[in-house]
Amino acid sequence: MARKKTIKTSVKQRLRAARKGKGKRKAARLKPVKARAKADAKAAKGALPQWTKAEIEEAFRRFAAANPEPNTELQHTSPFTLLVSVVLSAQATDAGVNKATPALFALADTPEKMARLGEAKVRDLIKTIGLFRTKAKNVIALSRDLVEKHGGQVPRDREALQALPGVGRKTANVVLNVAFGEPTIAVDTHIFRVGNRTGLAVGKTPHDVELKLMDVVPEKYLLHAHHWLILHGRYTCVARRPLCEKCIIADLCKWPGKTVNAAGSESANSE
Ligand code: SF4
Repeated sequence: MARKKTIKTSVKQRLRAARKGKGKRKAARLKPVKARAKADAKAAKGALPQWTKAEIEEAFRRFAAANPEPNTELQHTSPFTLLVSVVLSAQATDAGVNKATPALFALADTPEKMARLGEAKVRDLIKTIGLFRTKAKNVIALSRDLVEKHGGQVPRDREALQALPGVGRKTANVVLNVAFGEPTIAVDTHIFRVGNRTGLAVGKTPHDVELKLMDVVPEKYLLHAHHWLILHGRYTCVARRPLCEKCIIADLCKWPGKTVNAAGSESANSE
């Protein structure tokens, strides 16, 4: 019991010191490839230690300090152009979508104009994006629905959004968060990986991870949590070889594939 108290106290002291900018956090080093694969398997099983409330608070404090106003990388000028961009981004990169959308939105930046533009023209304008045939069909169908059922406006309502062609829970969450400032978390491949790998939000499906994150992320960080985690997964906690040595939450993360443990010291079996 006394030992438990000492460990808890030392984590708290370290978090306090980090908050005050005292002390240098150790850079994480990666274990060999085999050990990393084992670590991923362990994380996927949900066998990592739990994060404490103080650690979660500290992780998001650091994300917020590093990037106070994160935003989507999809170029858009309105809820409608955002909605279309998110629909186009399924199984495609934001950069790829951003290359195609300026020409599309120059011709059609409202549901009325998009419906008038027609499927063949939309298909031609987005042909550099994967699954462009299905996406063109959906963009036209959802534009017509917006005109006919929502007065040409994007609804601020999850159910109504998810009833639109090509719009699933993830897309609805992005639109609610970015266009309407709702504290939602859209779990894409990056957030799914970060949640499971770090032990922050373990789940077998994106929906499981979303619910877990909604439960553990402190309320004051919920609005931006979605972008912090996406950007973290896209640029730091990348799939094949996470950049743990540059990671601002390395000492908090529970992934056993790196050599800095939760107490900020290097584990015994370092590379
Ligand atoms: S969160 Fe950071 S330390 Fe943890 S696996 Fe990802 S990059 Fe490495």
